[in-house]
Amino acid sequence: MQRHDALFIGGSWSSPGSDAVIEVTSPATEAAVAHVASAGPADVDAAVAAARAAFDQGPWPRLDPAERITAIRRLVERYGERRSEMAELITTEIGAPISFAQRAQVGLPWMMMTAFCDLAEDLSWHEIRVGRYGADIHIHREPVGVVAAIVPWNMPQFLIVTKLVPALLAGCCVILKPAPESPLDALLLAELIEQLELPPGVVSVLPGGADVGEYLVGHPGVDKVSFTGSTAAGRRVAETCATGLKRVSLELGGKSAAIVLDDADPGAVAAGIRAASLSNSGQICNALTRILVPHSRRGGYIDALAAEMQTIAVGDPTDPATQMGPLVARRQQERVIGYIQAGQAEGARLITGGTDMPDGVERGWYVQPTLFADADNSMRIAREEIFGPVLTVIGYRDDEDAVRIANDSDYGLAGSVWSDDTERGVELAARIRTGTFGINQGYTMDPYAPFGGVKSSGYGRELGREGIESYLDSKSISVAS
Ligand code: NAD
Repeated sequence: MQRHDALFIGGSWSSPGSDAVIEVTSPATEAAVAHVASAGPADVDAAVAAARAAFDQGPWPRLDPAERITAIRRLVERYGERRSEMAELITTEIGAPISFAQRAQVGLPWMMMTAFCDLAEDLSWHEIRVGRYGADIHIHREPVGVVAAIVPWNMPQFLIVTKLVPALLAGCCVILKPAPESPLDALLLAELIEQLELPPGVVSVLPGGADVGEYLVGHPGVDKVSFTGSTAAGRRVAETCATGLKRVSLELGGKSAAIVLDDADPGAVAAGIRAASLSNSGQICNALTRILVPHSRRGGYIDALAAEMQTIAVGDPTDPATQMGPLVARRQQERVIGYIQAGQAEGARLITGGTDMPDGVERGWYVQPTLFADADNSMRIAREEIFGPVLTVIGYRDDEDAVRIANDSDYGLAGSVWSDDTERGVELAARIRTGTFGINQGYTMDPYAPFGGVKSSGYGRELGREGIESYLDSKSISVAS
């Protein structure tokens, strides 16, 4: 059993202001694996005061950007040395298969840190324009201030690094609140950050629940909130930020469509959709969960998808051969089973899966990969984000019908087209209202490309140059000639 009794406030470890404790539970064994001190309002106050002082008077925002880039490159080195341990922690706390944890949950964020440093090196931090009235206008890119970064548990390091590193490169001071399901990886990151000896106040890490997040978002010392999570919580965060006139970016839920055109090879489609939609037990925001297939050829695609899903090795996430582990929590397992029952009750045809435990497994919050066909886009399994390994196949008549169904969603995070004819795919992509899109693949989250949603999937962009710019303001200084 791990114990973490201290909180990382302003760059060093402090005793928490209350005795509240988070119990971290293994989704595979259902046993408690760690006790972690939870932050409370007094700890948020202390972290915000430290960040405020660091931002308003400290050296960090005033350094040459090259010096901040050097600090993050040192973090990359330290992170590399501890990445196996980081992957094991994520497998322990959220049940992600160890092979996926090593590759995607830790390998990708590690690589992204370097990519963000490279982007920051190419950024235009100062510019001089000749104004309309003839004066020189000096434009300085300045950090937006104290940032509250709030993340969920599903891809904890990926989401933390996507916020923390661009914000630090921009010169902001950051208070990170990880989800209560996954504080362990965030605390290891805090240890690595401590070794960088950044100026005091620049980074705090405060594990805690929604109440801690809510208090942090409403804190008058916070200038910007960068939130990733559910649409319901995102709405609440947006309301609070509107009252405080704070900048906010919201990365929320999704219900993305894969449009399979009639010339696409069923085997390739099935393999691609499996990778895009069922990794991490389907607990990924940009999963393609509505599979739109031509009605006249639906049988071939349904068979190929079912065959592909039946090959997924579900089980113990610590086994390197496991391809799908449990869901994060009992409540998530119950929620997903509830959607499976709703799909059956509404008349969709269950093709494969539908049950919870894999053969021979007695504990853990599992759900087998589940495929529905003959669904209608008005059913709950087609409209609501399930956040589990459940895919819904919907038939369409022609391209117009496919575009209509894809756009008939409250969400707009991702999407894809599958076709032998790339040009036809690109033309269709332009007609789908969504923040990201893939042709013959799920959307790959490239650190050089902006990522984010439209509609109920939120607003603002992370990753790419835009991801750093979202932590910068432009100050214009006009110089009389
Ligand atoms: P959640 O909204 O319940 O919690 C996310 C984080 O916000 C947690 O740290 C939580 O403690 C905190 N929180 C909750 N309510 C809050 C409030 N009112 N004020 C401040 N903080 C609050 O989300 P979840 O269900 O744990 O996570 C899954 C959701 O996250 C899914 O909807 C998924 O699509 C979404 N997600 C989106 C992206 C993206 O980039 N668009 C990426 C990953 C996950």
